[in-house]
Amino acid sequence: MNKQYTITTLGSHSALQILKGAHDESFKTLVVALKKHVSFYQRFSFIDEIISVNAFSEFPEIEKKLKDKKIIVIPHGSFVAYLGMEGNKKMTLSYFGNKKVLDFEFDRVKQGEWLKKSGINTPKEFKNINDVEFPVIIKSYGAAGGKGYFLVNNQKDFINKIKLFRNKKFVIQQYIIGVPLYIHYFYSPLTKTLEILSMDRRYETNVDALGRILFNVDPSYVVVGNSPLVLRESMLPEAYEMGEKVVKKSQELINRQGLFGPFCLETIITPDQKFYVIEISARIVAGTNLFIEGSPYADLLYNEPMSTGRRIAREIKNSIKENRLKEILD
Ligand code: AMP
Ligand code: AMP
Repeated sequence: MNKQYTITTLGSHSALQILKGAHDESFKTLVVALKKHVSFYQRFSFIDEIISVNAFSEFPEIEKKLKDKKIIVIPHGSFVAYLGMEGNKKMTLSYFGNKKVLDFEFDRVKQGEWLKKSGINTPKEFKNINDVEFPVIIKSYGAAGGKGYFLVNNQKDFINKIKLFRNKKFVIQQYIIGVPLYIHYFYSPLTKTLEILSMDRRYETNVDALGRILFNVDPSYVVVGNSPLVLRESMLPEAYEMGEKVVKKSQELINRQGLFGPFCLETIITPDQKFYVIEISARIVAGTNLFIEGSPYADLLYNEPMSTGRRIAREIKNSIKENRLKEILD
């Protein structure tokens, strides 16, 4: 029955994980890849079909060609980066997830309100220069992979760096010193349960290399990789509670469906074992690529290798069985 449906995504970010998961759950798979990457994606036997494009911005054209197939698109980090929020919203093919969440994710003020109203711990945000307690981090809207962030230590530094944000939207956040831990959740609207499938620690350049030198440089936060991490077990119940609070609030704030499927709370943990949630990603994050074979946390829930990509396909499969596919597509 699943073979009627083709799971599709853009060729980058976490496409291999998503498509392998879909294949393992008996779906057909299709990747839209850049011409220069076609031979790369041909290496993988779990990909049934490849459509080649010169740029991902050609996606709306491809959509027209695919409209007679039963396609389900799985969004990942490249969708907002390359198609923009409007491009995502305009997509006419069936899209796994709730597009209304995009507005609350992209607008940093709305996102901040969502997180705060959920009752989880977040860094302080400052609206007025005179109120700022240093150090702070200035973050532009829609920044991805840690690009476009600036650490600011004092008023003089602040006045210089804020010039870079002229005509741009940004937020000023309290800078938290601790371990960046990214928690990968999955919320099932079918069973109304939340799972933690894995977690990672990001490796960012050059901030994570600063211990190797003695002079002053401005740190940058561009992600170059991810490493696995397990959390102290005594902190795990709180990690679950934070995910549950965010899901519950989304159902009041966004719409009845709220946030579902994969999402990530990006936290920084301080020495007093406090989580500060700095951001939410409402989709599969690249750190899950560490766990294509499953993680210690997924292993506690499933007696088989369960990646986030496979978990998405499993949800689609279950919804088809229960005749509830419409509820999880937008
Ligand atoms: P790419 O497919 O590498 O061009 O990445 C697509 C988007 O996902 C970009 O906005 C990247 O910054 C982001 N991204 C890619 N890899 C990672 C990663 N390991 N962690 C966090 N973000 C990532
Ligand atoms: P994000 O795009 O929000 O996931 O942030 C990318 C990286 O910037 C994080 O992994 C942190 O290293 C750093 N960062 C962002 N916000 C803060 C903050 N409030 N305090 C300290 N570091 C931060």
